[in-house]
Amino acid sequence: MAHHAFWLAGREAAGDETFDVTSPWDGRLVGTVAVPTEAQVEEAVAAAEAVRDTFAATPAHVRAAALDHVSRRLAERTEEIARLISAENGKPIKWARGEVGRAVSVFRFAAEEARRFNGGEAQRLDTDAGGQGRLALTRRFPKGTVLGIAPFNFPLNLCAHKLAPAIAVGAPIILKPAPATPLSGLLLGELLAETELPAGSWSILPVPNDRMPALVRDERLPVISFTGSDKVGYAIMESVPRKHCTLELGGNGAAVVLPDFSSEADLDWAATRIATFSNYQGGQSCISVQRVIADASVYDRLVPKIVAAVEAQGTGDPSDDATDVGPLVSEDAAKRVESWVDEAVSAGAKLLTGGKREGAAYAPTVLAEVPAGTTLACEEVFGPVLTLQKVDGEAAAFAAVNDSKYGLQAGVFTRDLQTAFRAHRALEVGGVIVGDVPSYRADQMPYGGAKQSGVGREGVRYAMDDYTYERVMVLTGL
Ligand code: NAD
Repeated sequence: MAHHAFWLAGREAAGDETFDVTSPWDGRLVGTVAVPTEAQVEEAVAAAEAVRDTFAATPAHVRAAALDHVSRRLAERTEEIARLISAENGKPIKWARGEVGRAVSVFRFAAEEARRFNGGEAQRLDTDAGGQGRLALTRRFPKGTVLGIAPFNFPLNLCAHKLAPAIAVGAPIILKPAPATPLSGLLLGELLAETELPAGSWSILPVPNDRMPALVRDERLPVISFTGSDKVGYAIMESVPRKHCTLELGGNGAAVVLPDFSSEADLDWAATRIATFSNYQGGQSCISVQRVIADASVYDRLVPKIVAAVEAQGTGDPSDDATDVGPLVSEDAAKRVESWVDEAVSAGAKLLTGGKREGAAYAPTVLAEVPAGTTLACEEVFGPVLTLQKVDGEAAAFAAVNDSKYGLQAGVFTRDLQTAFRAHRALEVGGVIVGDVPSYRADQMPYGGAKQSGVGREGVRYAMDDYTYERVMVLTGL
């Protein structure tokens, strides 16, 4: 257990108060964290404002070198950081190591993008008589200081997705990690402090939720990059309609299994992937598989394979290498999942496996015939729960995917290229993953939602576009 300072304008600082971070697995104290005072938050924003122009003008090679440094140091400290993620979040250690690996890539991608980013083009304007003798040069410039707000479920990598693109474009950033899991985000401060980045260009502040509205409204922070629930995300956007908000929100990811994906090997692959990615991180990923939508021609053979693969998931202590599924982030979260499953079962859903809770741990669960209108059928469960739905034909399968207020990603198990293109056209989601579950994310690809799953895209280069705007310069008399 250690005491963790926060990072104010690139330096360690302590506030007047602290709060505790405990393990959701065994309740042990993992660390205490200092809370910044209002005056310290003001100091961080003022420091960002003061450094804004000089940071934007920092040579790209300096920013790239800092990003490369963080990437290297994360790689060197992988095991220690993975243990920290696992302790504060309850994530099984093998998934926590994977998260560190992804953050290593995010900082490396950002270094590479910083070296090539200018967003520029030269455009001759003499294609029209009024533009004779003129040339337009377009470059991108930072909009100003970014306020990054991160959720608990990927406490390192989703902080990386806020910090790295901001540094890559030379935009100062104030990052706020999630209250349940602030330690991994704060650890990034240790690595950033080893670089030559100007002091005011970054702060990592665990500001309490009830003091966030003032920060959100601060006019010196024109860009808000939020990842979290739709409830909080839309409330933020509605409170600051003139700001540029990126919202990375929830989903109830669907995996579609179509008639051509029907050999024993195909169904074994689909069942294994579905079971793994409905349960990884206790189902607490925005692109977990929540809904399986299977064609009637494969449904009866697929279901027992899924149930067997779900029952084979190893549950238990997240620090154990053999554990696939650890606890949820809190006992309250597990109780909420339990109540949604109980409600669905009372309404007539068939429980095929699971449905049991012990403290913050909820057993991997599979249900069939979940009645429409139940909470489980409509909302993001954010727990290790899978619902199975039988449909007739491709059109019905795609309609079932779209029958949701969410639209983050969808997986389509097919081997047919024409079907893949039809899925790409038909599905109202930010990403269609062909031949796999919706849970695939590469950190350099555009990532974000349609419908109530969000606004805007992350993925390093896409966030860099978001944090900047095009400014054109017209040269006359050429
Ligand atoms: P949450 O909305 O409760 O919290 C997210 C962040 O917002 C936290 O840092 C929290 O402290 C902060 N916050 C809370 N109230 C605030 C306020 N009034 N003003 C400003 N900030 C405030 O979400 P969570 O429980 O941490 O995360 C789970 C959610 O995140 C799920 O819905 C999940 O799907 C979503 N998520 C989405 C993505 C994506 O990229 N689309 C990725 C991961 C998680």
